[in-house]
Order: sequence, then C-alpha cells, then structure tokens
Amino acid sequence: MTHPAQPKASHFINGEYVEDTAGTPIPVIYAATGEQIATVHAATPAIVEQALSTAKAAQKAWARMTGTERGRILRRAADIMRERNHDLSVLETYDTGKPLQETLVADATSGADALEYFGGLAASLTGEHIPLGDDWVYTKREALGLCVGIGAWNYPTQIACWKGAPALACGNAMVFKPSETTPLCALKVAEILIEAGAPAGIYNVIQGMGEVGGALVTDPRVDKVSLTGSVPTGKKVYAAAAEGMKHVTMELGGKSPLIIFDDADIDNAVGGAINGNFYSSGQVCSNGTRVFVQKGIKEKFLARLAERTGNAILGDPMDEATSFGPMVTENQMNIVLGYIEKGKEEGARLICGGRRAGMDGYFIEPTVFADVTDDMTIAREEIFGPVMSVLDFDTEEEVVARANDTEFGLSAGVFTKDFTRAHRVIGNLEAGSCFINSYNDAPVEAPFGGVKASGVGRENSKEAIKHFSQVKSVYVRMGDVEAAF
Ligand code: NAD
Repeated sequence: MTHPAQPKASHFINGEYVEDTAGTPIPVIYAATGEQIATVHAATPAIVEQALSTAKAAQKAWARMTGTERGRILRRAADIMRERNHDLSVLETYDTGKPLQETLVADATSGADALEYFGGLAASLTGEHIPLGDDWVYTKREALGLCVGIGAWNYPTQIACWKGAPALACGNAMVFKPSETTPLCALKVAEILIEAGAPAGIYNVIQGMGEVGGALVTDPRVDKVSLTGSVPTGKKVYAAAAEGMKHVTMELGGKSPLIIFDDADIDNAVGGAINGNFYSSGQVCSNGTRVFVQKGIKEKFLARLAERTGNAILGDPMDEATSFGPMVTENQMNIVLGYIEKGKEEGARLICGGRRAGMDGYFIEPTVFADVTDDMTIAREEIFGPVMSVLDFDTEEEVVARANDTEFGLSAGVFTKDFTRAHRVIGNLEAGSCFINSYNDAPVEAPFGGVKASGVGRENSKEAIKHFSQVKSVYVRMGDVEAAF
C-alpha cells in the first residue's frame, strides 16, 4: 500500500503535479524508523526547462496585478495552511523526523505567518516622489523577475514560505528546489497557493540534488537566488550567481555564542541553552552551540542543565508527548556521533548524553560537554546536532573577543540582569540575529540572517522586501533639454 506521505508526483509546475521517472530516484526515509516512505525523482533537464520557462512566462502578468490582489492570494494561502495545520505537521514530521509536538507549532504555522505578513505588505510597496524645482524624479519598487529558492532540510515548509512569500509579494515568480533529504513539504505549499487563487506558474517546485540547484543558479533567465544551506554550498552558489550578476540571499551555517553572566536567572539561562541547542534535535542554523558560562555559576548551571536535559522525552515523533526526535538521516547521525567522539578525545568533560539512542531510527541523546576550550573541534565547527559545548569565562571583554573569534556570525545571545551590559555586549558581538535573555525566537516581523561567513541579505521583516525587489528611478523633465551642441 502506498504510504500517505507519497506525493502524487515529484514536481509541481504550472499549477499541477508533474512526473518524469527518467530522473534519479530519491528515496524519502522516515528518520524515526529508517523505513522508506516515499520516492521522488530528481528533475531531468526537461523538467528544469519546463519549470524555468513556465515561471518566466507567468511572472510579468503576476507583477502587473495590484499589490492588494497579490496580497489577498497570499493571505488566503495562509488561512488554508492554518486550517490544514495538523496534516501539514504530520507530513513535516515524516519529512524531517521532528516531533509533532514541535511541527504542530513551528512549521506550517510559521509558513502561514510569512504568507500572511508579506501578503499584508504587498499593497504597501510604493516608490517616492522627489521634487527638483519644476522637474521631478519618481521611483518605483519593481520585482526582480524570476527567483530561485534552494532549501536546507531542517525546516522544509518554513523555508519554502520564507522565500516564496516575499518573492511573490513583490511580483516575482519562483522555482523552488527543496533539499533532496526533505522533498515533500514544499509541494504542499505550491498546491495551497494554487488553491488560494495564485496564477499557475508563479510558484513551482522541482526536486533534485546539488546538480539541479546548480542548473537553476546558472540559467541566464534567473535574476535572483536565495539559498538556505551550509557555508561550503553558499560559496559555490554565490560564485555561480556572480557569473550572471544575479542577486543573492545566503542563509548559511553558524557556531553562535550564548553568553551567560553570573547574575543571570539560572533557570531562564538553562531554558535558553536548551532551546538554543536541542530544539529540532539541534538541527537549527542559529543555535547557540558555544555556551559561555561565567565561572561563578558554572557548576550550578551545569547541574541544573543536566537535570532538565534528563527530562527530554525521546520516542515516536508522532506521539505528542515526545519532545526530542531523531537526526534527519543516518548520515547526519554518524556525522554528529563522530563529533561526540572528537569531543571526548580532545578532553571535553561529558556531562550527559553522548550516545545513540535505540537502533531503529537515527536518535542521539541530547549531549552536553563542559570544560570545552576554544581550540576544540566541537567548539569550532558547526555540528548541526544535539551537542552543546559549555565554555568558561571570567570577564566581559574576554568573552566578547572569544565569542567573535569564528568565521561565522549568524546569531548571538546574552543572559544577564544588567541591561546596560546586555546591550553593550550585543553591540560588540559580530552576529546578525541576536537575543537578550532569550534564544532562537524567529518571528516573521524580525529580520533574520547572518554576517561574516554566515550569509548575505536578510529574510523576513520589511528587510526581505529589499532583497526581492529593486528600485527604478525616473527623471521627468518639464522644460526644454539643454545640450552642449
Ligand atoms: P547543504 O548546503 O548541503 O544543501 C543546501 C541545499 O543546497 C540543498 O537543497 C542542496 O541540494 C543544494 N545544493 C548543494 N550543492 C549545490 C550547488 N552546487 N548548487 C546549487 N545548490 C546546491 O545544506 P543542508 O545539509 O541541506 O543544510 C544544513 C546547513 O544549512 C547547515 O549548515 C545549516 O546551518 C544551514 N542552514 C542555515 C539556515 C539559515 O537560515 N541560516 C537555516 C537552516 C539551515
């Protein structure tokens, strides 16, 4: 019997499901059991061509609609997503292995937030009138044209919407390629947009590995590429986009610092460290994986952290009581287990976790290392799994310098009751998305993105509009033209 997660076909182009079984089969494995639940096929060159030419053809008419009309469609899509939240959350859980307890509140709901927010902004995208005596300049905010979105595997619904919603609000068309690891959810976003009244062809989904992503990025018809992925992939995609002088948004990896001062509320700080390391089993780009704890509260912090981490409920992700799911793939599990071994070898002190849990799925216990030093591999490289490194520090000056000593700059957090210090420390940290006495909140109203190797551009908020549109300026002369000859 076909599994309920199996999509009707691999791709969604021009308002309908499309299949081409000549493409490489991509198995979809449910991370909690290791069972294959679906198969899709990577896009063949014919599918890539169909998606790009369809999107290119549909874009102009979409951009000519009023912002109010475009916005209404996006807001309707948001309503449909919310009505179907339960089914979409179950699919997200099949796609990623994340527990339903999370997916019910964080995935289709945040996708819907993006559709609603950018739907609301669509009608307000105006230009300026700049008076120059009798003459004037006016500006228009125009769509970029054909945008490509490429997703990572940790938030397949959210990423499809975080890229699609602002792109469409501005009058662009999109071809979205989900991660080959989680190909299912973006198809539902495309389907829902059509149901909400979007014209066929403005939001298309095609499957495939890096090769298909590469074919999209290098196509001369494409005006913009928005990638969520790792730094090495980001460098390749950015370079390929530069060849065609295309706009880019790069949402890449991190190794973010979370700084906890002696005066912090210990339970809130522990809660922040848990949210910043163990949500989605640690597969979150903005995670605060270097937890710097001031020496005075170190042992108290570690004791409380170990106690609360012990309350994580690992198990069937479809059981709403489960609060901690598996790694997305066997490969990711092995990468993370490798880092845990490195942590032990290099002399970090294992406080809790550290092992694979169960043999059926790809579960790893939430893991905390203490006495981690700046040079250890687990403190330098992005692990993308449930491995928290706790480092000690004495002074504010020292911790800021150490926190900034990384190629990454996605996020940073600080816990302290001294608000002057909190703002000063955040002001001195090299990071794009920061938190004071909190960690990992990502409301659509707030800009999201990194500095340094963690990325270029911002998603969400009004900032995203700037990255999916461009300004045309028009000089209007009322009198005669003066010329030298
Ligand atoms: P990845 O870099 O391996 O792949 C990302 C996407 O790029 C996939 O869809 C992949 O098929 C595609 N791709 C790979 N090579 C390509 C190429 N040459 N040209 C075009 N496309 C190509 O990343 P992943 O393993 O899927 O995701 C994990 C990474 O993503 C982590 O580093 C994580 O930090 C990062 N991430 C960042 C954010 C953010 O918003 N900053 C969010 C989630 C994940």
